[in-house]
Amino acid sequence: MVDSSGNWRWPVAWYDLFPVLLNLHIPVLHDMQDRLIWINSEGKSCHYSSWEVWNNIRYRENVVSWKNMVWFKQCIPRHSFHLWMVIRNKLKTQDRMSIWEAGSATNLNLMCCPLCHHDRDSRDHLFFECLYSKVVWVGIRELANMGDVNYRWDDIMNWMDQNSTSQPVNVVSRLVVAAASYYVWQERNSRLFTRNQRTAIVLSQEIIKTVRMRLMTFKFKQGFANRSLLQKWNIPSSNLDIDPG
Ligand SMILES: [Zn+2]
Repeated sequence: MVDSSGNWRWPVAWYDLFPVLLNLHIPVLHDMQDRLIWINSEGKSCHYSSWEVWNNIRYRENVVSWKNMVWFKQCIPRHSFHLWMVIRNKLKTQDRMSIWEAGSATNLNLMCCPLCHHDRDSRDHLFFECLYSKVVWVGIRELANMGDVNYRWDDIMNWMDQNSTSQPVNVVSRLVVAAASYYVWQERNSRLFTRNQRTAIVLSQEIIKTVRMRLMTFKFKQGFANRSLLQKWNIPSSNLDIDPG
């Protein structure tokens, strides 16, 4: 702020902390009131808020091509967070843990995929090349409108990359893939650390039930495509109304 004599009114201690203040020139205002504004990272003045400040000072990576596969307004947040970990291959799968083997008292050679008991598990194995996961994928892909997409992670990602639009049918695909990866990982951990086991068929049904519950909260636009989508998922036509929310 500027006082009546035209000098800056900074707290005195600030001059030691920020010597640059000594050389700041006072702007001369004509026909306007002095006011505080926030200039964002693009050089535009905007309303000040803590969100705006964080958005400007946070570290930013380049935008990734798969962002719309993971984050969309109808997503189930815990599934999306998990899918983000899967895409970045950050889960503690057995192939990644094997780099800790040197000097370890634990014999990691004894580790094997708890779902199929063949070799160590890995991202690509669990999603969905594993004999168990493959059955899960076959049980859900038709409902995800991905009946012709095989169980390889790269193929699923390529398909998603080309089909991550706001169309309801593509929202469903993304919900199913995220839920499937979440539940397979949950089952893998359950078998590692508890005695609880579910069959691949039961897991498929739980994935479908979870996605269906999410779809029940949407309102779909009128139209043939959405009508058949609702029929496919056994959702009442009362959900056929306005924009998907
Ligand atoms: Zn396996």
